[in-house]
Amino acid sequence: MRCTLKAPLTITSYSRLSKSSRARLPLHASVMQPLESSIDSIEALLVEEAVAWACQHGLIYGAGLDSPASAVVHAPLALLPTPYPRGPFEQAVQAAPIFNILMDAIAAEDEYLQSVLAAAAVQDDFTAALLHVHKATAPERAALKMAGKNRDLAVTRSDYMLHSPTNSLLQVEINTIASSFGCLSTLVGRLHKYLLDWSGNDTSSLPDNTALNTIVDAMGAAIASYKSPSSIMVMVVQPGEKNAYDQRWLSLTLWERHRVKTVRLTLKELVGKGTIDSQGALRIDEQKVALVYFRAGYSPDDYPTQEEWDGRMLVEKSDAFKCPSVAWQLAGAKKVQQDLATPGAIERFIDSPTDCELLRSFFAGLWGLEDVSSPGMSAVITDALAHPEGYVLKPQREGGGNNIYGTALVRKLSSAENLSAYILMQRILPPIRNTIMVRNGVAMEAEAVSELGIYGVMVKDGDRIVTNTSAGHLVRTKASSSDEGGVAAGFAVLDSPVLI
Ligand code: ADP
Ligand code: MG
Repeated sequence: MRCTLKAPLTITSYSRLSKSSRARLPLHASVMQPLESSIDSIEALLVEEAVAWACQHGLIYGAGLDSPASAVVHAPLALLPTPYPRGPFEQAVQAAPIFNILMDAIAAEDEYLQSVLAAAAVQDDFTAALLHVHKATAPERAALKMAGKNRDLAVTRSDYMLHSPTNSLLQVEINTIASSFGCLSTLVGRLHKYLLDWSGNDTSSLPDNTALNTIVDAMGAAIASYKSPSSIMVMVVQPGEKNAYDQRWLSLTLWERHRVKTVRLTLKELVGKGTIDSQGALRIDEQKVALVYFRAGYSPDDYPTQEEWDGRMLVEKSDAFKCPSVAWQLAGAKKVQQDLATPGAIERFIDSPTDCELLRSFFAGLWGLEDVSSPGMSAVITDALAHPEGYVLKPQREGGGNNIYGTALVRKLSSAENLSAYILMQRILPPIRNTIMVRNGVAMEAEAVSELGIYGVMVKDGDRIVTNTSAGHLVRTKASSSDEGGVAAGFAVLDSPVLI
């Protein structure tokens, strides 16, 4: 049984399946309309195979807050991989450890972070609160540094889109906190390999994705470097997290590969159970914590009361590895990304001109909005008001669903409000292709665009870099009509690249 992938696949064959096969396929009603006749039923069979494989291999997602915690569905996924040009893909992989060095250098500069984010903090309480923790813990940070106990684990993900007009790969943003989907993306790569192989197609252009093991091995390296037998990892999570299985793959694999246990805690639970002992170590119920890994804490919703901030502060003051520290989190702010795009900015932090050139090749147009009446900015604003489709307005937020586009962008830009908490960004225009997306067993075809994420990991113990490397990839694909892109936020599906 062969299916050619040169032409986009369509679900045209459902009507040709036997009644019993149809009953097994939970396809969407719209797919069950009378369909064009087709030569075989390969697409529908692939959907069935994909859903079964996903459930059999833990490519799963929480079914929803109202369900019991154990109720799961397969993760939203693209049926087949998305073509990506090999050259730019490999350059983005090459850039991952350099972006880590850049973020590390920025995180180490207290004054830079405080000053570059000061204007945003005036308008944005969340940025102000993070800056407050950063400032309030400066004495402890200095003491830890003096003792050689400043410890960072970075699990970064730099996100990119192909910009069709110039055929270049441009950076959407870099994530320095809670970079998710490393594990499920590893599984989607395996799923696509299986489906192509099963349907008689070549799989040699599917790049290996080592995200799960590479991220876990960085955690293992950090914990080994902490040198305290039977110390644990604390994973800080959101209550009711739907993406818990992506997280649990990390803790399961950390146990299997490194014999380290994970304790999952919300920020509130952390402050209730956590203490710092006389040696500066964080303890949870007497167990020593070598690493605190945040999969929460990036959104104001994660801090409903002062208690959660106290939890964050406790971690900052301890000698555990932080993934990330508040400084690393701030280094990933969109305002910092915009500042780094100004001429000469990255050169302050990175010595190698070739490395600077590589990073710069990914930068889209980015503008700060502190002084919109300056001569340079007023021309950009005039253009954005006339052509809003060419721009995105972004607040200092993570997690998807916060950006402003189109008429709302015009309204916001032309309001008399102070916009220093926002940055303006060139709209990246990725190529559109037909994709079959599968959610809750329902397959739907859509015109779609894709976003590539490249993971990086860095372990730094005192001044010593233990490891710094790229760590696999993620592709998320969404309907081209949707502005936002998060899988967790419900916009996109998990996908993988096929290199061309
Ligand atoms: P967040 O931190 O909320 O994930 P992002 O900067 O990644 O913020 O933006 C969310 C989504 O919006 C992205 O995944 C992407 O789909 C879309 N997006 C962001 N910036 C751009 C841009 N410059 N051009 C086109 N789409 C963008
Ligand atoms: Mg993003």
